[in-house]
Amino acid sequence: MSILLVAQRRDMKPFRDAILNADSNIDVEIWPNTTNPARVQFAVAWHHPQQIWKSYPNLKVISSLGAGVDHLLRDNTIPDNVQLTRVVVPSLSDQMSDYVLTAVLNIIRNSELYRNQQLESVWKSHPAYLKDELTVGVMGLGELGSTTAERLYLNGFKVNGLAQSKKELKGITTYTAGTLGEFLNQTHILVNLLPLTPKTDGILDLDLFKELKKPAFLINVARGEHLIEEDLVYALDKGIITHAVLDVFSTEPLPDSHPFWGRKKITITPHIASVTDPDEVAVLLIENYKRILSGMDLLNTVDKKRGY
Ligand code: NAP
Repeated sequence: MSILLVAQRRDMKPFRDAILNADSNIDVEIWPNTTNPARVQFAVAWHHPQQIWKSYPNLKVISSLGAGVDHLLRDNTIPDNVQLTRVVVPSLSDQMSDYVLTAVLNIIRNSELYRNQQLESVWKSHPAYLKDELTVGVMGLGELGSTTAERLYLNGFKVNGLAQSKKELKGITTYTAGTLGEFLNQTHILVNLLPLTPKTDGILDLDLFKELKKPAFLINVARGEHLIEEDLVYALDKGIITHAVLDVFSTEPLPDSHPFWGRKKITITPHIASVTDPDEVAVLLIENYKRILSGMDLLNTVDKKRGY
């Protein structure tokens, strides 16, 4: 049996090397160079080309190379009997928590405003927000969202959290999907860490922005498709949202002509909030590979019906 690494926009060699460094007995190949497709039972994919799976008749499991699985679930050519798994490792949650904490601190300290003033040689002070003046609301309390909410709380912020089911997290006021309106009405800085599913696609729209407490800010670190981009532009122009920090976009890389570039009220990063480390991921992939071989239950399985 072999592991097949499949990606279109990503160099998979570091992942192959990390797997081989951890266990040189594993047979690992990078798509499209498969010597014997019938030997492939485990594939690891990141934005794979659709329709390729029919070439691998004995495929049992596909793992996402990251935490998100929307790229796998939108491929309806994956056979029903193929199980899906994803990457859940401590460093992904740690990096995401740091990214969001940094973004929130930059918001309360007006960092972007001062950066823009510097570019125009302007010396002018603005009152900073106090930590307990603005409430941060984290949408999605899964692997990344729960750690992020806890880190914000431990750094002195008032934190709300939203999940599908009721959660108990120390110091955090939690809401469920049925009380989304209440959650938004109690939130100034909205952090999106939801999975991309039919229920959450386009959830960040003008109606939602209007529900937030003023001044309102948006940090989108989940998926670009959560956001209705023109609604954000309108909300920023009308002062409904004061500033947005965006790490993910419906088209990546963000096209040169995109209206988000050059807007002072938007901070852009190129999908780097939380990046998978080959050595750390290799350990998890090898564990699941061995579980496939021995018929054991897999780690970090995805519920295809639920969509995450
Ligand atoms: P996860 O572990 O699957 O957690 C999802 C959370 O969202 C759960 O708490 C779930 O509630 C909640 N949820 C699902 N649908 C909901 C709904 N309709 N209303 C309210 N809550 C809902 O996800 P994760 O691994 O933390 O990943 C979060 C997001 O980050 C994903 O979109 C992923 O693609 C993205 N991501 C981004 C980067 C980056 O670099 N920007 C890196 C990695 C991941 P229950 O707990 O009740 O089920």
